[in-house]
Parts: sequence; C-alpha cells; structure tokens
Amino acid sequence: MGYHWPFGTFLCKASAGLVIFNLYTSIFFLTALSIDRYLAIVHPVRSRRQRTLFYANLTCVLIWLFALLLSAPTALSRDVYDIGNSTLCAVWHRSEQINLLVTLSVLKSVLGFFVPFLVIITCYCLIGRALLGSRGLVMFENLQEAVEAQMDNKRATKAHDYTKYNNWATINDWVVSISSANADLISRQEIGNTYEGRPMHLLTIGKKTGSAKPAVFMDCGFHAREWITHAFCQWFINEAVSTYGSDPEMTNLLDRMDFFVLPVFNIDGYEYTWTNDRMWRKTRSRNSGSSCIGTDPNRNFDAGWCTVGASSNPCSETYCGSSIESEIESKNLANFIRSNKSIIKAYLTVHSYSQLLLFPYSYKYDLTADHSELLSVSQGAIAALRSLYGTRYTSGPGATTIYPAAGGSDDWAYDLGVKYSYTFELRDEGRYGFLLPESQIKPTCEETMLAVKYIASHVLNNLY
Ligand SMILES: [Zn+2]
Repeated sequence: MGYHWPFGTFLCKASAGLVIFNLYTSIFFLTALSIDRYLAIVHPVRSRRQRTLFYANLTCVLIWLFALLLSAPTALSRDVYDIGNSTLCAVWHRSEQINLLVTLSVLKSVLGFFVPFLVIITCYCLIGRALLGSRGLVMFENLQEAVEAQMDNKRATKAHDYTKYNNWATINDWVVSISSANADLISRQEIGNTYEGRPMHLLTIGKKTGSAKPAVFMDCGFHAREWITHAFCQWFINEAVSTYGSDPEMTNLLDRMDFFVLPVFNIDGYEYTWTNDRMWRKTRSRNSGSSCIGTDPNRNFDAGWCTVGASSNPCSETYCGSSIESEIESKNLANFIRSNKSIIKAYLTVHSYSQLLLFPYSYKYDLTADHSELLSVSQGAIAALRSLYGTRYTSGPGATTIYPAAGGSDDWAYDLGVKYSYTFELRDEGRYGFLLPESQIKPTCEETMLAVKYIASHVLNNLY
C-alpha cells in the first residue's frame, strides 16, 4: 500500500486539482504572452492599453507559478490507492498495478484539459476584446468580411482613383501618365528592378532649376499589406503638383527643394497581396535551404542588422535576410540614397498602422545626437496632423516608443548622415489595421500631408 498520506484524501484531491489547474493556466498564459510578443514584433501595436494587458498576463503567470511551486510537493507525494481516480496522484505513483483505474484517470485528465482550456481561452478573448477594443480580433475572426469591407468606395471603376486602392498595374500606368502630364514638375527614373523583375519607378517632384537642390526622400509600401501607404504616396504626388502655384507653402517647397518619391517599394509583395494573400508583408525572394519565401525589408538594412527585434528564421515575418541588403529592393534604394547623400536632407518612410511618428534609434536605446530637434519636429508634425480631424499620433524614438528592432531603413539613413529621418505609422490604431476602409484614404492622406509639409518646411529652414 505504500506511504500513507497524513492529511487525508480530500486534501490530496484538492491539491491535485490545484496542480492541474495551475499547469493549464500557466501554459495558457505563457502561450498568450508569446502571442503578445510575436504580434508586437511583427507590427507596432503597442498602445498603453496593450502594455496593461501584457503586465496583467505577466502577473498572472507569476502568481500561478508560485501557487504551483507550493502545491506540487503536496500532491505528488500522495498514494494512488487512497484517492482513487485523482489524476496526478495516479500518474506519478510508483504503481505496481498499472490497471484500468490508472488508464481511466489518464484519459480523464486528457479530456479534462480541454474543458478548462476552452473556458480560459474564452475568458481571455472577452477580456482582450474589452481591453484592446477588438484590436486584431476583427482581422482574424472575420478576415474575409474585413477584406471585402475595406473596398467601401462603391465607385465602380478600374481606372486610377486617389480614393481607392489601386493595384500595381494601375499605379504603374498612373506613374507614367502623371509624370508626362506634369513634365515641368515631375521627372521619372528607374532605380532598378525588383526580385521578380518589376521596375522601381522613382519620381522627382520639384521645380526644375537646372541645379541640384536639397531633397527629401520618401518611400511607401515597404510592407506589402500596408495599402494605405501606397495610397498616400500617390496622393502626395498629385497634391504636390496640383497645389503648386496656389498653396504658398507647397510652392515654396517645390521651388527650393526636390522630393524623391518611391510610390511602391516592395512591388512584388504588393502584387502578391492582390493576387494571393492580402496579409503578405515581406518581399517575394526565395531563401536558399528553406521553402519559406521573402525577407522583411525593414530588417534588411545596415543598422545593428539582425541583432534585436528581427529573426534569422526565413519563415519568420521579421526575417532579416541572408545578409545586409540581401534584397534587391533594399539594395536599389540604399544605392540611390548613398549616391545622392549630399543633397538628401530628410528620409521619410511610410508604414501603417498605429498612428506613430518615429525617429532613430530603433536598433538601440541610445538617443541620437539630434534627439531634441528630432523630437520637437515630430511633435510639431503630429500637432499639424491632428489639427485637421483630431487624429492622435504618438512620437518618439522607435526603441522606446514601440520596441527595439534592428535593420530598419530609418536608422540606416540616419547613421549615413540623413539627419531628419522619420517613420510614419499611419491610421488606424487597430480597429481595421491593415484593412483600412477606402473611405478613410482621403482623410488619412489629407492629414498626413500636413505632417509631411511641416517636416519638409523645417528641413528647408534648417539646411545643414
Ligand atoms: Zn510596415
């Protein structure tokens, strides 16, 4: 019969139950924490409320682990015969009779796993939805519905439209036509081809003076699924040329400086979001030794490359690539900026979503030598943005405002010597996320214009 438990059957059963409960909840909360970290790295969605959720999870895990430590020895020392079917006691017993009773107990514990697990998951989802305002859940629960809902501009047309999402073929035709229609203000060049061989068109917007002017470089569409960003670059180009001569601020900017605009950086990925997977993020290059496709281009630059907030696993959404600038798109962009380094005074890279205006560093916690200026310019820019529709942005260095992430193009440009280096994370805060409805293209672009003009004006008045 073995060792006899001194405190009675009831206490042992209670202890065993507690151990099981603790194990399940710990596993669950650890899983939840991992998901939380994963989502945070894949995309900046670190609102204050989400931090609260993170610390709530962490506290729960610690409490349960503590309880587990306290209750485990009690439960494990119990003799199987005195508690009948209590699971843990049976499983760990030095049993000389592994009989039907034990088998049933094990079965019962396996089944018993799912019920509490489902209950806990349901509770977590409800709490998460309340805390996060359905951030993320909308996307994953009703993806198809949300994908359809983003196209809420009912104007039936396949032609280019600034208030709709345009596919690559439409954008490509538009790039050619807007350049030739505004030959006095726009010139077009190819800075190279993408991995799949599509030409990367770069537009230079500004009054042609015959001499080199200081310039702002701006790109959109690093990440394929961030469709609002592609829409913004198109909007910006049109707005610049159509308000030149009437808007004094824009006229002054275009007279005295140039904007290099790359409307779609990751063209292959963007095309893929139209044809195969709306939520695709990375490039479309093959990785040797892996069946997983693509690299995260915003982890692919020479700025603490692949040290933090990036993965060396080709299957990861934040894969840093096989080497610095392994992606031809990154290399093309970096080559252009390097060879025009003397005139490029600002670098703006447009992402979504989260409503943030970030500046270096992201690959380390150190503040830049220009921190106070970069901060005050960012604050002025987000105040200008907010003045139109009240949209609230947060600004600050990437590492502390969202999380550390190495290999970003903004940090690389800054370290190269481009002082005014900013990353926009456009609307929204997660209600629609990457699937921002078309009805929000116009207000989003209008307000973002104000921030871009604010930054460009500051650059022009503080040339270095
Ligand atoms: Zn992005």
